[in-house]
Amino acid sequence: MNSPYDMLLLRFGEFTLKGKNRNRFEKSILTHVRALLKPYPNAKILKEYGRLYIDLNGEPVTPILDVLKKVFGVVSISPVKVCRSELEDITAAAVDFIGRSELGEQTTFKVNARRVWKAFPHSSQEMNHLIGSPLLRNFSQLKVDVKNPEIELRVEIRENRTYLFHESIEAAGGFPLGTNGKAMLLLSGGIDSPVAGFSAMRRGLEVQCVHFYSYPFTSQQAKEKVIELAGILSGYAGQIKLHLVPFTDIQTSFTGIGQDNLIITFMRRAMLRITSRLAEQEGAQAIVTGDSLGQVASQTLPSMNVIGRATELPLLRPLITTDKQNIIEMAKKIGTYETSILPFEDCCTLFVPKSPTTNPNLRIVQKVEATLPGLQAKIDLAVEQTETVIITPDMQLDSEQGMKKESVVKEEWF
Ligand code: ATP
Ligand code: MG
Repeated sequence: MNSPYDMLLLRFGEFTLKGKNRNRFEKSILTHVRALLKPYPNAKILKEYGRLYIDLNGEPVTPILDVLKKVFGVVSISPVKVCRSELEDITAAAVDFIGRSELGEQTTFKVNARRVWKAFPHSSQEMNHLIGSPLLRNFSQLKVDVKNPEIELRVEIRENRTYLFHESIEAAGGFPLGTNGKAMLLLSGGIDSPVAGFSAMRRGLEVQCVHFYSYPFTSQQAKEKVIELAGILSGYAGQIKLHLVPFTDIQTSFTGIGQDNLIITFMRRAMLRITSRLAEQEGAQAIVTGDSLGQVASQTLPSMNVIGRATELPLLRPLITTDKQNIIEMAKKIGTYETSILPFEDCCTLFVPKSPTTNPNLRIVQKVEATLPGLQAKIDLAVEQTETVIITPDMQLDSEQGMKKESVVKEEWF
């Protein structure tokens, strides 16, 4: 079927208010959009004050709309029909456009025309009537309501062509990617951390994922699950870096030392130390986790306090006061939920003591750590053996060979 749409109109969000950053923010969106449109070479980007237009030029509207909905900083997208700036063309286009919409038994509407090109012979006000009349004649279901219409047909008359649109599709919003700095995300295979990562990205952070695995105690499938989660997050970024950290030696060094109820505390502190080192290498300035206050023993205030002392970087916990039910809803919305609930074990669920402490003592924790032989060397080794991959949304998993080589993109664009 012939698509009724010729263009997409992308509107920018709250950052447009912030005067001197605006250029930088708009540039970031432009770069992001350009990267996402690479598979659609005929699509052209037109930049305008506070907006972008994508001239589809024959490229398919639905998949393009789907990827562009994920661009942070874009609040809404309207599919646009384009016609010549001649009265007859505009009214015919309006009838055709509205005819393709789903109209109820009675649908209220208004026309909101704007004459951008002042040489056009009819004023905006006249155009509202000139377009509205044939619509009322053609569609008996339509009724005018200028205050609160169900359909507001916007018509922008420009010198060369006229744009018509009425739908407004919600997009990701927030701040453009990477415009507020870079952070490391502790990504487990659970429900919370991917949502925390999304929230951080939506706030303008470039996020790199760090995952700890304990092969052979955790399976290849558990690792693939995390790669898949990073893949879903990369749909919002174009690509994402994932650091896979071997954690077996460190984890096993905490067992059998007679401090079982502190194992999780030690593990989390080791994770933060390693992540801080990776952050330094990558120039990241914060660590993001999926912690939510009181959810488990390691997420009580005393636990978070003792764990957090293992790093000097700010710990960002976007979900700290969010209820589990709301986290689940967000996970469903961003597309990570179905993968997160796959049953593969996380390294933290192994060796979990019967009664992990909810109130660890910092001095005792530090003292025990100091007596562990070679902990620092093990941390150094884990950093050294960390494998870094760049994940893209279209990456295919091959369970026998791990990742398919050709789908791991090397170049960086953000
Ligand atoms: P999630 O659903 O994100 O796993 P959770 O409620 O299961 O969270 P925990 O398993 O206690 O909570 O983990 C708390 C946080 O620690 C996670 O949100 C994540 O940021 C980090 N984390 C836990 N395990 C790992 C891991 N194997 N690799 C990287 N980060 C981890
Ligand atoms: Mg978990």
